[in-house]
Amino acid sequence: MSAEPQLLIDKAYVAGQWREGARRFAVTNPATGETLAEVPDLDAEVAREAVTAAADAWPAWKRRTAKERATLLRAWFDAIMANQEALARLMTLEQGKPLAEARGEVAYGASFVEYYAEEAKRVAGETLPSHGVDKRILVFREPIGVVAAITPWNFPLAMITRKCAPALAAGCPVVIKPAEATPLTALALVKLAEEVGFPAGVINVVTASRPAEIGEVLTTDPRVRKISFTGSTPVGKRLLAQCAGTVKKASMELGGNAPFIVFDDADLDAAVEGAVASKYRNSGQTCVCTNRLLVQAGVYEAFLEKLAARVARLEVGNGLDEGVVQGPLINAAAVEKVQSHVRDALDKGGRLVCGGEPHALGGTFFQPTIIADVTPEMKVATEETFGPLAPVFRFETEEEAIAMANATEFGLAAYFYARDYRRIWHVMEGLEYGMVAVNEGILSTELAPFGGVKESGLGREGSRHGLDEYTELKYVCVGGL
Ligand code: NAD
Repeated sequence: MSAEPQLLIDKAYVAGQWREGARRFAVTNPATGETLAEVPDLDAEVAREAVTAAADAWPAWKRRTAKERATLLRAWFDAIMANQEALARLMTLEQGKPLAEARGEVAYGASFVEYYAEEAKRVAGETLPSHGVDKRILVFREPIGVVAAITPWNFPLAMITRKCAPALAAGCPVVIKPAEATPLTALALVKLAEEVGFPAGVINVVTASRPAEIGEVLTTDPRVRKISFTGSTPVGKRLLAQCAGTVKKASMELGGNAPFIVFDDADLDAAVEGAVASKYRNSGQTCVCTNRLLVQAGVYEAFLEKLAARVARLEVGNGLDEGVVQGPLINAAAVEKVQSHVRDALDKGGRLVCGGEPHALGGTFFQPTIIADVTPEMKVATEETFGPLAPVFRFETEEEAIAMANATEFGLAAYFYARDYRRIWHVMEGLEYGMVAVNEGILSTELAPFGGVKESGLGREGSRHGLDEYTELKYVCVGGL
């Protein structure tokens, strides 16, 4: 990288001040191993300061009119889109995803800010028929209070706006703890928020390499009224347990094990395109990524052949290079996990169709991989791989497919391709998932409620339901009338 990336900020942001830290940690480019910047490695004390700043900012922030909050959010949206290219480059540098995907994420992330700028004006209470002629029932919808947002590295921008935009719209200040691999996108995003005029303390970012220390403060401080977490299921469970002490509300967007079912009557070419989009996007590092491909016996070999031909055309490389559709994995541990899943599947009788090895580019690049004849005993059947490995299972009947798809503790996203309309209804209704895509490989949008059932999480992000997560209902009984 010759020129310094634009919008590269190497300070944290607390109480409206850009903060240094006594210690710093390095942020590296996974495509090259180079250090991009060092950011403050903050501790529990600064996390508490950030909570104090947010708690102090809350009364004035919630008293602002909805329109004032909406205007600031709208200005933030405009600033994000005006800086789409700079944000996308920064994201590709620290996260590795291809530039086109990074641009897409900036637009997707910004769409939540735009949507909740509009929705801020529609936070409505209600009046209800009362239980006595001299009484009235009023229901107010009030901001819940200080929100802590803990976010992952796989979508460094969108996971922040999906939480902060509805929280801010509702009248809640936020403390953000971004993933240690990708703090630069978060800091750039908040720099733009500062520039458009969000008041001091309303948005805070605490960068840290030891997340547990910050998490402990955010989940136990009684002034934090809501924790919104996106990340792995084990960390989510731990945070939930920590929240119990102060009975904090929590939204949890956790891991998935998405099935992608291809029935005999599917449009196979469309199914291949959907499978590639949902499996290999972000190098397989998305929570709604296809983790298991279930293919009906009648089209099994034909589908595999088409999929292998398509996957052979996926270009792997540095996300900044033109034409690249698969970047590196985030780190060496991610490569090790993919390799262990490949090894386990092959040891237990899986058939390698393509890939299976680290890529010749070295570093954390991995070949797009397909393994056929996968069975339920293999790790890939039950664990989230989070990498470019497509394991393919065979099934005979619709009932068997639904049972296989549901045989997991996760329940985030599921996909299937079919044409028969009765089958479409039966399968759609039979899948125990928070989100189902029918003849579609990509389903995320700010307009719909995103979230999972079972151990994939609690709560929803996006749509008007995403805003309700940051409000409390207050019932007022007015008597003596
Ligand atoms: P992770 O759970 O390791 O980390 C997520 C965040 O939690 C990071 O900011 C990390 O620093 C922080 N963290 C880790 N340990 C903590 C602790 N003890 N206390 C407080 N904070 C802590 O997850 P990851 O590897 O960054 O992300 C990948 C996971 O996220 C996958 O399982 C993926 O499915 C999931 N994910 C889910 C969604 C969704 O919407 N459901 C979206 C994206 C990613």
